[in-house]
Amino acid sequence: RHRTVYADKVVDTLCPFCGVGCQTRVYVKDDEIVQVDGRDGPANENRLCVKGRFGFDYVRHPHRLTRPLVRRDDAPKAGDMVLDPANPWEVFREATWEEALDRAALGLSRTLNVHGGQALAGFGSAKGSNEEAYLFQKLIRQGFGTNNVDHCTRLCHASSVAALMEGVGSGAVSAPFAAANEADCIIVIGARPGQNHPVAATYFKQAAKRGATLVIMDPRGQELMRHATHALRFKPGSDVALLNAMIHTIITEKLYDEQYIQANVEGFAALKEKIADFSPEAMEPVCGIDAETIRTVARTYATSPRSIIFWGMGVSQHVHGTDNARCLIALSLITGQIGRPGTGLHPLRGQNNVQGASDAGLIPMVYPDYKSVEDANVRARYEDAWGRSLDPARGLTVVEIMDAIHEGEIRAMYIMGENPAMSDPDQIHARAALAKLDHLVVQDIFLTETAWHADVVLPASAHAEKLGTFTNTNRQVQLGRPALDLPGEARQDWELIAEIAKRIGLDWSYAHVSEVYTEMASMMPSLDHISWERLEREDAVTYPSPAEEGPGTEILFAQGFPTKSGRAKIVPADIVPPDELPDDTYPLVLTTGRLLEHWHTGAMTRRSASLSAIEPDAIAAMNSREIRRRNLRPGAQITVTTRRGSITALLREDRDVADGMVFVPFCFAEAPANRLTNPQLDPFGKIPEFKFCAARVDQY
Ligand code: SF4
Repeated sequence: RHRTVYADKVVDTLCPFCGVGCQTRVYVKDDEIVQVDGRDGPANENRLCVKGRFGFDYVRHPHRLTRPLVRRDDAPKAGDMVLDPANPWEVFREATWEEALDRAALGLSRTLNVHGGQALAGFGSAKGSNEEAYLFQKLIRQGFGTNNVDHCTRLCHASSVAALMEGVGSGAVSAPFAAANEADCIIVIGARPGQNHPVAATYFKQAAKRGATLVIMDPRGQELMRHATHALRFKPGSDVALLNAMIHTIITEKLYDEQYIQANVEGFAALKEKIADFSPEAMEPVCGIDAETIRTVARTYATSPRSIIFWGMGVSQHVHGTDNARCLIALSLITGQIGRPGTGLHPLRGQNNVQGASDAGLIPMVYPDYKSVEDANVRARYEDAWGRSLDPARGLTVVEIMDAIHEGEIRAMYIMGENPAMSDPDQIHARAALAKLDHLVVQDIFLTETAWHADVVLPASAHAEKLGTFTNTNRQVQLGRPALDLPGEARQDWELIAEIAKRIGLDWSYAHVSEVYTEMASMMPSLDHISWERLEREDAVTYPSPAEEGPGTEILFAQGFPTKSGRAKIVPADIVPPDELPDDTYPLVLTTGRLLEHWHTGAMTRRSASLSAIEPDAIAAMNSREIRRRNLRPGAQITVTTRRGSITALLREDRDVADGMVFVPFCFAEAPANRLTNPQLDPFGKIPEFKFCAARVDQY
């Protein structure tokens, strides 16, 4: 507290990390952040977790990029170099902005002219603002004439969004996580909010304390299970078996809401037929949960006055991720547990702006507001607005783009604020793809593992230096304000996108980021009545907002669904096994995820002294039974090997890890989990199976 007395300025802004979207008050002294407090925002009510409160010092880390870089003519081949962020000079040299931007744009336009727009692709960022996401997808679509534009939503909730769009006509949450306050039964499945959405987790704990039934379903244990009435540690990859057995109970015991189904739902008859073989007894050996517990949880969910489901990447990151989400949607629809306070469906979004970046069209199948690129009427509207004919076909997704580079179909990329060299599955394949590109432009705040492959590196803005809007997991559009000046010659991301646009011949003229917001909002009915000025005044508004004043709509689907028929659709799911099952050579299941202190690929949090002090070293975790069974020593180095590669990490004893499983967090560049993961995709959401592949562990 005493430090605030000496602050030069105090800025009200947002946390840069997770999708909870906590509002922060940042204290600045001598252009450095010295303290962060929580504000009374709609998502955090003054709370912050360890990342939001202490993870701010990465912004001024000495690795910060402050001048443009271009690849040296005599640099080692991309892919062969040693990555040393403190010494990039063997690979890069500094350049002026004019040279760097000209080079960046020239390489992209040369590819366009020689090979056509389909030879180009872009990855935008879920950490950037809505305005940056909107401009980035506009550049790729208008400037290069392709829909090959995607971002990390493809790696987190693409399958959830696919199932939600198909089922209820909207990919966003139907209720905020604060709806847990009013719920009688809360199911959290395939999520670890205590680590990944810590402030949201406090709402679940409070609900349990008040007497709500809290059901946690996950193969791994977690701290939140201590607050739960039921903890179901099912076998990895058996989600559909467990959820269909719950649906079976609800249907056979006639606990469904017939009136609601008749008025609002299609596909119930097909569901009834499908789940006939999924009795709890039949599914008990498949999912490892006893039949009576399945029945108890199903009855509680169906008969509680208000039940709500939250889920995370344990549901979505499977080859059957869309099927998993379809089962959750079916559960809520047959019981009418949606559209009322305390009910609903809530995929907990990961990054601070993954909801907003998706809404703004950073997706290869859709323009802003999820309007299909294949719909001629929608396309005509954008062609009118943007003054050129647009690509009528869906673009490629993240992993498909990497494959297309290997096939020679994609030859140049512009990557803003994403780190696919760490986040994509089968990393050796992904890095080889980046190294194969004719031309790669990377715009970022650090020389990430991806930036090392670049021909041009553009130093950009950190969250603490940005003015812009960000949309959290609750559909709350919030204003982030700059607390710090840009370091050195670094520039705002939106300005850099506009500079590239200018150099490839686009006629853009934005004098201020608010003009970008206004143009974007004019193309997005979801932002009706939410003006820039209103956000400046109110800081946060939930979309959709029915009027210029008053609260936005927190609970969706009270009056039907935004589908063609106005009804929601159940799509029954069958059991699809994980793509790669354990065998004699690879007897364990590898699962990957995050740690409380480290954010995604670690580019930011591993450069935070306080967070790195708590979690400094690369680890792989197993439970004590598995460690003993395999004669391993906790604290010693182990290698984890899959069919795609090997890593070395310290073995941590962790009772939360399931029998027969090894857990590896994906934030450590020196032991990259994604060197091991399986790139096999869910056919609908095109999301890779990060949560399950066969692995071996050795100690030498
Ligand atoms: Fe930031 Fe998420 Fe923690 Fe809130 S819960 S402080 S948004 S990381």
